Amino acid sequence: MPTTTDFEHMLRDVALRVTRPRMAVLSAVHDHPHADTDSIIGIVRSDLGGVSHQAVYDVLRALTAAGLLRRIEPPGSVARYEARVGDNHHHVVCRSCGAIADVDCAVGAAPCLTASDDHGFVIDEAEVIYRGLCPGCSTATSF
Ligand SMILES: [Zn+2]
Ligand SMILES: [Zn+2]
Repeated sequence: MPTTTDFEHMLRDVALRVTRPRMAVLSAVHDHPHADTDSIIGIVRSDLGGVSHQAVYDVLRALTAAGLLRRIEPPGSVARYEARVGDNHHHVVCRSCGAIADVDCAVGAAPCLTASDDHGFVIDEAEVIYRGLCPGCSTATSF
């Protein structure tokens, strides 16, 4: 788990000023991968007290633009954030409860899948959403 000092370095490395809301959002997303905005706001508020929704939205946008966070939007789900950036991994989403887990690339370096027809595009990324039932839900429905 990264420490407070690590978070400060991450912010400085991308030329962002170290502020308490930025530190709190970074740490919340590291602790709760794939959290949605509302849960992140809840965690940051229990940490810092009176931080406005807008402030958290702004921090999420700045950290995502700086490449410290990755925003994912599985179809049918609200946007979620994670701190695992830059490795082009995929996600598996539970059809029933919406739980999300990381799946490493199918082959390795991006793009890890080769399109059968690239339509002339220079493809540098492939994103796959695997769908199914998480362990909790598949046990629950087998009765
Ligand atoms: Zn589930
Ligand atoms: Zn992920």
